[in-house]
Amino acid sequence: MRKLLLFILLVVLGVALFYKSPFSALYNYNKGKDLYTAGSYEQSIPYFERALFAKPNDNLMRYTYVLALSKSKPVYSVQKKLYEIATGQPQDEAAKTARLKALNLKYKLVADFKNNYINNAIYGNDILRWDIRSFPLKLYIENPDDVPAYYVTNINKAFDKWASRTNFVKFTQVNDAKSADIIISFKDIPSSSCTGKICNYTVAYTEPEISGKNILKKMHLTFYKTNPRNDRFSEYEVYNTALHEIGHTLGIMGHSEFPMDIMYAQKETSSTYMPSLTSQDLNARDINTLILLYRIEPTISNTPNLSSETFYYAPLIIGEDDERIQKKIQEYSDYISRYPNISSGYINLASAYADSGDFDKALSTLNKGSMYVQSNDERFLIEYNKAAIYFNQQKYSLALEAANNAKSIKDDNAVNELIDEINQMQQ
Ligand SMILES: [Zn+2]
Repeated sequence: MRKLLLFILLVVLGVALFYKSPFSALYNYNKGKDLYTAGSYEQSIPYFERALFAKPNDNLMRYTYVLALSKSKPVYSVQKKLYEIATGQPQDEAAKTARLKALNLKYKLVADFKNNYINNAIYGNDILRWDIRSFPLKLYIENPDDVPAYYVTNINKAFDKWASRTNFVKFTQVNDAKSADIIISFKDIPSSSCTGKICNYTVAYTEPEISGKNILKKMHLTFYKTNPRNDRFSEYEVYNTALHEIGHTLGIMGHSEFPMDIMYAQKETSSTYMPSLTSQDLNARDINTLILLYRIEPTISNTPNLSSETFYYAPLIIGEDDERIQKKIQEYSDYISRYPNISSGYINLASAYADSGDFDKALSTLNKGSMYVQSNDERFLIEYNKAAIYFNQQKYSLALEAANNAKSIKDDNAVNELIDEINQMQQ
């Protein structure tokens, strides 16, 4: 028995040594090269990977591997490998070639949807979207009698518009909130929306409900019943706003920079009352953005760890994190210069600074934003974000103070989880 064990150990060791040996590298490389020359690119890849496992920095092997990847069917894993070589170390000829090939691949993958604003559609650093297999999404309209019938008619019309303009988005109405994916509700506008003659308000807003493990539970779409002057919103206001907010409920979490797009930011917040006189439509950019979003692998979805070789690899399509964060900082700074009295602009800018690692700037931006809060939701977000930033800075007592402030405004799972984490760190 002892002899057998020793024998097995020796075999295992021998195999391990073989895989790490230059002989194995050459053997696997030659096998890969033969397959590559014969045009069997996909089959050559595992051999090149074994060769590189033994000799990770061999220039020629890396280079041939990149060529094999770029000639393979561009499935998810191929996109990811190419992108990782392109952006990783060492930055040799193979990496430079990978960079070029990755760029080509990106343009090939998005060729049919070239006009889009996918870079602005993401949720911080996350891709949030539903699993296509769970369509039709279940809609529940809470207390529809609280608003005139045309509110509900126009909201339903907007859902139908998204469904008819895409060939995959589908909705169905359900009678209980519990089983619903999207909950639509109506609420009174906060009285603090006006200062003198200036009123800052939105017609509606959308909030995702996400559980701890990046699971999208529901989308909450809330309409105000009236504007701050107690006038009902017009049919077009309800319809146009619904089109915009439904884009959010589908996962387009950011905003477009172009006024012709339905996800253009200005539509959400207007400082003067301006009823829209025409009904809007979805344009090609809106549809392309949604189609692309539903091809990219999500990081937050209603199905845990949703993945498939048919998905697109997000960094390849969207670009590097840093680039994106800088763009967001620019976008939110522009927003604040246009609407300096709206706290959500500061809250968004602060998250972008936090993403970039500039916590001090994030905190001072949140403090500025706290001067313009109008609702408890905004007050909660400011305190919660402060707590998260202090936590990252390892300033645990300040973090706990802010988290408790947040909890006193809204006692939800996210803040309780954060408080638990802070307490664990303080022990
Ligand atoms: Zn919006």
